[in-house]
Amino acid sequence: MIRVEKLNKYFGQQHVLKDIDLEIKEKEVVCVIGPSGSGKSTLLRCLNLLESVTSGKVVVNGHDLTDPGTNVNQVRTDVGMVFQHFELFPHKKVIENITLAPIHVRKVARAEAEQRAYELLTKVGLKDKAESYPGELSGGQKQRVAIARALAMEPTLMLFDEPTSALDPEMVKEVLEVMKQLTREGMTMVVVTHEMGFAREVSDRIVFMDQGMIIETGSPVQIFSNPQHERLKTFLGKVL
Ligand code: ADP
Ligand code: MG
Repeated sequence: MIRVEKLNKYFGQQHVLKDIDLEIKEKEVVCVIGPSGSGKSTLLRCLNLLESVTSGKVVVNGHDLTDPGTNVNQVRTDVGMVFQHFELFPHKKVIENITLAPIHVRKVARAEAEQRAYELLTKVGLKDKAESYPGELSGGQKQRVAIARALAMEPTLMLFDEPTSALDPEMVKEVLEVMKQLTREGMTMVVVTHEMGFAREVSDRIVFMDQGMIIETGSPVQIFSNPQHERLKTFLGKVL
């Protein structure tokens, strides 16, 4: 579903992604861990065309993102993204936040988009918040709306960039619960997270990044119980 080959990314002189090779299969859940500044967000953004690639190849759902002929909008429709900060439209009701893109980008009829939005709100436990404004919601509720909004585009792949990092501890669980539900439904997911318990529980594979490189990749058991690389051992020593 995703194939990254020798991906390099520079910001000016700074080399932030170095020869990244990564393959993600359909229905796979991959968590990306690593210290701050190691390039995790940039890698995720390269998978969704939010960042341009300096060199190398990124293929998502058969679309080569480095090919200028690629239909960018099609790729963006296929790939849902949830950020650390919810980025909901503050002046629009929850239901409008969710139906906006399906109506205007996917050209879904309003009634159909709204019905689907109610289903998604039910799924994330917020059916009664459809008419609320984002400002009336807690952080955890906003993030669950953000997930529903991403799902409304019926993506085949979901990218999460530290979706719980900006939340108060008591709200982390409700968001992780929604994400766990998605993994059980077979969604293909790439999740950048500092939630090691979550990574251990739901990942098929964990990718450890440091200084723009993938240093080690393996099953949760391999990564947590039998880390090979010194840098991974040091990182785990700090976060566990
Ligand atoms: P992480 O998500 O692992 O914390 P990032 O991918 O955000 O790391 O950042 C990797 C490096 O790239 C950092 O040194 C950061 O300062 C730099 N960087 C990220 N985004 C930009 C940008 N838009 N312009 C310049 N430098 C950036
Ligand atoms: Mg980041």
